[in-house]
Amino acid sequence: MECTHQSTSKKLVKIEYFGLIFSAKMEVCDKCEAHLWTEESKDKLNQWMMEQKREHRDSFVIQTSITNHSKQCLDQIIRDYPSIQASALIRAMTIVFLEFMKRPEASALFEDVAAGDYYSQLCEGEKEIVKVQFNATGMLDLESWSKILAMKNAKIVEEAVYRMTSLHIENDPRLKDFWHNQILPQISMILKSAA
Ligand SMILES: [Zn+2]
Repeated sequence: MECTHQSTSKKLVKIEYFGLIFSAKMEVCDKCEAHLWTEESKDKLNQWMMEQKREHRDSFVIQTSITNHSKQCLDQIIRDYPSIQASALIRAMTIVFLEFMKRPEASALFEDVAAGDYYSQLCEGEKEIVKVQFNATGMLDLESWSKILAMKNAKIVEEAVYRMTSLHIENDPRLKDFWHNQILPQISMILKSAA
C-alpha cells in the first residue's frame, strides 16, 4: 500500500544532483522517508540549480554517444535550420521527447517506433561522442525521468535521438503524421527561439 505520509518531521535533507549536493530543511515522512516538497522548497531548488549552472557549467553537459546512422539523419534534419548545431537539435529532441512521454498516446507511438526496423538499423554501428548542454529545467526533467525509467541521463538522450530520427524516416502513416504534425513543429519552435 502506498504511504500517505501521515506523520512527518522537519529535517535537513541532502540530495545529490549531478554530483553536487543540494541541502534544505523540509518535512520528511517518518515512515517512508519521502521528502515532502512545497512550492518554497521547489523554488529553493530552482534557485540552487541556477547558481550551480553559473558556477559549474560542465555539470549540465551530458556526454552521450550517437551512431553514425542516426547522426546522418540529424544532419539531414538540421539542413532546414541554418546556424543550428547538431547538439542543439539533440537538446531540442530530448526536451520534446520528455514532454511527449507524459502523454500516454504519444508514449505508445514512441514504443511503436522503437519496435520498428528503422529504429534497430539506426541503433547499430559505430558511435560518435556528442556533448549536449542542458539548462537547469532540462536537467531536472531528465533527472526525474531517469528515476522513473531507471535509465542514465545520457541513455535517455540517446533514446530520444534514436526514436526521433527513426520517426523522421518512418513510412508508417501514423508515425509519419506524428512526426510531421506533432513532434517536428515543437522541435522547430525550440530551435527557432534558440537561433
Ligand atoms: Zn510516507
